[in-house]
Amino acid sequence: MRTQLEQLIQLQDIDNELLELQQERGNLPETVERLRAEIEETTHLLDLKQKEQLNAGKERRRIENEVELAKVSLKKYQDQLFKVTSNREYDAITTEIESAKAVVSNGESRIIELLGQEEELVQTCEELEKNLEEIKSDFDVRDAELQEKIAETSDTEATLKKNRVKIVEQLAKPVYAHYERIHVAKEDGMGVARVYNGACGGCFAAIPPQKQMEVASMEDFILCETCGRILVDPNSMEM
Ligand SMILES: [Zn+2]
Repeated sequence: MRTQLEQLIQLQDIDNELLELQQERGNLPETVERLRAEIEETTHLLDLKQKEQLNAGKERRRIENEVELAKVSLKKYQDQLFKVTSNREYDAITTEIESAKAVVSNGESRIIELLGQEEELVQTCEELEKNLEEIKSDFDVRDAELQEKIAETSDTEATLKKNRVKIVEQLAKPVYAHYERIHVAKEDGMGVARVYNGACGGCFAAIPPQKQMEVASMEDFILCETCGRILVDPNSMEM
């Protein structure tokens, strides 16, 4: 049991160092990820708005053509109106004139609408492009910072992780499972706590004298009843 407890202390030590490395990187990894997602979203949105703009332009040009053709027909029908010889012919041409006028009038209002939309979309795209540029340059700076930090610490981290695996292999599975559960759950990452002045070093709950003696003997696996941390003797190896 003593060996297992000593190995747990070593494990805690390694985890403390790993936590320190993570803290050195701070929230850079999250920031970089957030910026990466923002770039993706903005690029997607820009793409969407550019397509909308393209489609509005296409529709406008199609309607402009229709209006031009309708104007030509209108002129033709208006000329014919002076040459009609029967009422029936007059009515027929009048109907054609009305329908051509409708095409022109509806088309022209739709063109105005589309021009407005295109103008708005141009503005939106410009803003998105500007945003995207800013996010990208922010991303470049933060990512470079992160890569530098990772490069600085990656050797140390790799060694720590290798040593961690070795220790975990030697620990009894339930012991490691208990440690890991507390280690992950606690903000300070401490699965092991020393007993100081009769209290748990993790949560400061008082430890009864009988339990303190058991902890000091390092012969049993004693848990703090309050926080669940594995209690070890204060004079045990450096943690
Ligand atoms: Zn405790």
